Amino acid sequence: MHCPFCNAHDTKVIDSRLVAEGEQVRRRRECNSCGERYTTYETAELVMPRVIKQNGNREPFDENKLRSGLLRSLEKRPVSVEAIEAALTRIKQTLRGTGERELPSRQLGEFVMAELRLLDPVAYVRFASVYRSFQDLNEFRSEIDRLEKDD
Ligand SMILES: [Zn+2]
Repeated sequence: MHCPFCNAHDTKVIDSRLVAEGEQVRRRRECNSCGERYTTYETAELVMPRVIKQNGNREPFDENKLRSGLLRSLEKRPVSVEAIEAALTRIKQTLRGTGERELPSRQLGEFVMAELRLLDPVAYVRFASVYRSFQDLNEFRSEIDRLEKDD
């Protein structure tokens, strides 16, 4: 691929390894012209189910949107990027595993919450409070109680 710094055509791979539980290849590349180094990630593009929103609209599964949702919930929490990427990978596997062509956004939310619950309890509650938009304080309280009981 072209060098993102000088646009030269000739770059070489200096390191290649599997990340995100083998679902991604991370490559370090070096430009033969300017000598700059950069990283690329390669993943298989597989068909994901479309997401059915609350209002009935269908939209394509958006990995970046999901990632930013996870990152927002995990802000300032002691969870590594690697662990987040691994969770993202498992969520996508679960989605594909349903074999469905369309899936309610609520169900996607449940998959995400299941992962967050294992990663970090605070992030889980943050995400759940936004995602489920708890009807009232009691509902929110009982969710936290349930969480504390499990720990
Ligand atoms: Zn270059």
